[in-house]
Amino acid sequence: MAMHEEALPIIDYFGLEKVSSNFYPIEIYTNKNESLILSLNGKSEEYKVDNIGSQAATLNTFVVINNFKPNIVINCGTAGCFSSKKAKIGDVYIAQDKVIYHDRRISIPGGYSEYGMGSYKVIDSYDISKKFGLKQGLISTGDSFDLSDEDMRIMTDNNVDIKEMEAAAVAWVCSLHNTDFTAIKAVTDFVDLPETTSELFLKNMELAAGNLRNKIVDIIEYLL
Ligand code: SAH
Repeated sequence: MAMHEEALPIIDYFGLEKVSSNFYPIEIYTNKNESLILSLNGKSEEYKVDNIGSQAATLNTFVVINNFKPNIVINCGTAGCFSSKKAKIGDVYIAQDKVIYHDRRISIPGGYSEYGMGSYKVIDSYDISKKFGLKQGLISTGDSFDLSDEDMRIMTDNNVDIKEMEAAAVAWVCSLHNTDFTAIKAVTDFVDLPETTSELFLKNMELAAGNLRNKIVDIIEYLL
């Protein structure tokens, strides 16, 4: 996971304890028998903020898979949605079909455009979505919180439901290790409405983190 505020309700619920990570700044929490690992990207010492985005997510996933060999990796957190798709603040989505990138534009022939966009596998989420009341959606990752017109075009062309900053990076590392992957994201903001996204994000963080926690707790108790 990327942000402390997103993770703390889950750490509290399962009574997870911090274990020493062999790779600073990653912060790893586990339950007693290590059947559940929650791994945070950790803080940027220089800027005093949580490490977010694809770079930190890649490192985190690599460290976790190498140390714990999980059966499944679930990237959870908050995300933006599209009002045009009737999504609502607080909705919780699970990844469907694939995850892609919307901000890696590489118009060089020979496969680089497709490589930039990516298409990373996710588990079939139909049963989980029905059992636990999640919406299924196509998730797209980028390294900016705001978006350019070109990002918007790519997301519209690909029928994207959810915009965030980590899922495709986590999915890529999972694909290299043949590890099952899914992402579960609670909506904090609309990316296609004029209200400033960062204000909405801060206002709705608590609601989204609470909804995320409730769904994650049910799903993890079912999986364990
Ligand atoms: N201003 C925030 C920073 C949030 S960055 C702060 O107070 O720290 C956004 C984080 O939430 C990322 O981890 C990303 O995955 C997710 N996120 C939520 N809404 C998003 C959006 N509209 N676009 C991209 N990422 C979003």
